[in-house]
Amino acid sequence: MADVLTPEQRARNMSRIRAKDTKPEMVVRRLLHRLGYRYRLHDKTLPGTPDIVFRGRRRVIFVHGCFWHSHDCRYGTVKPQTNPSFWEQKRLDTMKRDVRHVSALAKAGWQVLTVWECELSPTEQLSDTLQRFLAERD
Ligand SMILES: [Zn+2]
Repeated sequence: MADVLTPEQRARNMSRIRAKDTKPEMVVRRLLHRLGYRYRLHDKTLPGTPDIVFRGRRRVIFVHGCFWHSHDCRYGTVKPQTNPSFWEQKRLDTMKRDVRHVSALAKAGWQVLTVWECELSPTEQLSDTLQRFLAERD
């Protein structure tokens, strides 16, 4: 089927889909909730507006889509068929922004965990990762 949207329209659509309460983020939130952790969401006062914030523990979690954030996995290295250079630039910008945010958070004394979309299952493994991250002492 032909692509009826301009790249800009498509980007707007995608960014809407990617915004808050995306499915991967919900998976992580549900799991954390089940594990008994309390957290804040989308804290705009912190660099990059982290998805999940544990203020007391000074830890934040980003839940990232593999494609958008250029994860080094088979989902993150997909080459789009239409407008490849447009998408490459967008993804490069996103990646650079991510690096800036993580380093700003680290400088301010925050520990950062990135959960990738491709790591959501098996749940047991993700659950271990989350618990280890939140239990660690500084
Ligand atoms: Zn991935």
